[in-house]
Amino acid sequence: MKKIAFFDSKPYDKVWFERLNVTLAEPFELIWYESRLRPETVCLADGADAVCAFVNDDISAQVVDTLAGYGISVLAMRCAGFSNVDLDAACGRLTVVRVPAYSPDSIAEHAAALMLAVDRRIHRAYARTRDYNFNIAGLEGTVLRGKCAGIIGMGRIGIQFARLCQAFGMRVLAYDPQPTRLDSVKFVPLAELLSQSDVISLHCPLTKETYHLIDAAALQTVKRGALLINTSRGALVDSNALIEALNDGTLRGAGLDVYEEEGDIFYEDLSDTVDRDEQLSILVAKPNVLLTAHQAFLTDEALESIAETTLKSLTAFFDGKHTECEVCSADRKRSI
Ligand code: NAD
Repeated sequence: MKKIAFFDSKPYDKVWFERLNVTLAEPFELIWYESRLRPETVCLADGADAVCAFVNDDISAQVVDTLAGYGISVLAMRCAGFSNVDLDAACGRLTVVRVPAYSPDSIAEHAAALMLAVDRRIHRAYARTRDYNFNIAGLEGTVLRGKCAGIIGMGRIGIQFARLCQAFGMRVLAYDPQPTRLDSVKFVPLAELLSQSDVISLHCPLTKETYHLIDAAALQTVKRGALLINTSRGALVDSNALIEALNDGTLRGAGLDVYEEEGDIFYEDLSDTVDRDEQLSILVAKPNVLLTAHQAFLTDEALESIAETTLKSLTAFFDGKHTECEVCSADRKRSI
């Protein structure tokens, strides 16, 4: 039986992987580690045939070297993004598979939830009414119908988010270096999108080109009072510049599911810690910021689909087959 070592595992991962694993013709042995994958913990993978990792694991060159040294030749990312994998180190030594599309609706609907909640101050209302405070001053919102949504990255998730915005009667602008034809969506240059949008939502991948795409210079050009929604990757946004833009009213609010330094923070209960990340502490304390801890994917449908695709990819790998989920291969050059 092939062994898969899971890192950064959570109870909800086990539920779906174990449920689907027993239905396979050739089930795997699933080994669960709560630790993140990193140079200090990679030794736990010794003896496994495959490693399964998640968004905040550190698959740097050192980790790739160690995995290859243990004779492991496949890494399954149980997520869409793979910016935390050193592909230059991995390609030709490790086959890396991911889950390209598990449930775009899950992320798009979460982005919409953040947009509505931040706009209508639902997070503040929730805190107030729980404290038996029924004062509604300061909770003023806006009507979205007739407003402009600017979507950066019109891929699988961006398209679903556009449909939700259209259902609210919003006009949709999009920026994507590879524009497609979509009903009632106008593709425009980034500068035009930033200057016209009442809601800016990020749905592009994190790459060298998109790192700090939303920085101080970009924020200087946004329509005053816009909302920023980021369910993509934290480092698309320069957190210092975001804080400034929230302080001076450039942005009326932000709905964030990701944070650029989330790696050692998200998915952990750090409520007892005193030594906290300064920028994150500033952001979460702001009344016009709603932050969730990278949970946009967290639906039953997405978890089932992630487990199903990952197990299929690993079965295909051990059967000697290539799949469209491959980011790079142990035996050939990088495919993405
Ligand atoms: P996708 O590949 O279908 O679409 C990404 C789109 O971004 C593509 O159309 C691409 O052309 C475009 N793009 C590339 N570079 C760009 C740039 N410089 N500016 C604007 N657009 C650019 O990906 P997807 O499935 O829609 O996922 C989008 C992102 O969502 C992922 O990269 C991932 O980071 C994030 N994500 C987050 C969660 C979560 O739980 N928060 C879950 C899944 C995915």
